[in-house]
Amino acid sequence: MSGQWISIHSRGKDEKAKGGDILGPSIQYRIFCDFDGTIALNDVGDQLFIRFGDEAHWWQLVQQWRDKKIDGRQLWQQQSEITRITPHQMDEFAASQPIDPTFLEFVNFCRRHHYPIYILSDGMDAYITRILAAHNINGIEVRANHLHIDDSGRLTVSFPYYEQSCGQCANCKGSHIRRERQSHETAIYIGDGYSDLCAIDATDILFAKDKLARHCLRHHIPFEPYNSFNDVQHRLEHWLTA
Ligand SMILES: [Mg+2]
Repeated sequence: MSGQWISIHSRGKDEKAKGGDILGPSIQYRIFCDFDGTIALNDVGDQLFIRFGDEAHWWQLVQQWRDKKIDGRQLWQQQSEITRITPHQMDEFAASQPIDPTFLEFVNFCRRHHYPIYILSDGMDAYITRILAAHNINGIEVRANHLHIDDSGRLTVSFPYYEQSCGQCANCKGSHIRRERQSHETAIYIGDGYSDLCAIDATDILFAKDKLARHCLRHHIPFEPYNSFNDVQHRLEHWLTA
């Protein structure tokens, strides 16, 4: 699979038209990362609902969401109603989830270079924060949907970042990128799946794998392929010295 780094979106096109650069040693990068399947090696949301909810119902809902028959909020709400997991079970479930072993090194690389880094997820904060803590990763801004778990295992979901203008995502990643990125910066997005589609048009450089990479290939969207955060770091290191 061959990809291309290229500026494909709003700022990139503008800068390109002006002859500006989006890569290079003097560029300030702002980094946005998906969580499920990107930082976490599994799709943790899928695993949560398969293990503690109703698997067949979950896949039906996911298909309806992909077909845009329901939005992200309906997806999470409907499955949360029939799922039971206590806080203790969630602790154990989260602690068992592997992450990309090169992610922490990548975070440290970004911090050394003063590149702000965010986790943008259309999944749930309850497992993201626990998984990060289990791997001693602290201090990263996480923007995700909110999952409250009561002692009996009942789940209540809420959507602090819902954007009416999107209408499909419960937590639209494109909205966060547009809001956070500064005009002089190059925005980088790293993802793997369908919940990343709204990030495509908001970012300058897209790192994609798995379903997201296949989507990009199908729709002739330029992207940088990667397998791990180590690959992303190597590309950034190369651009820093280019
Ligand atoms: Mg993902």
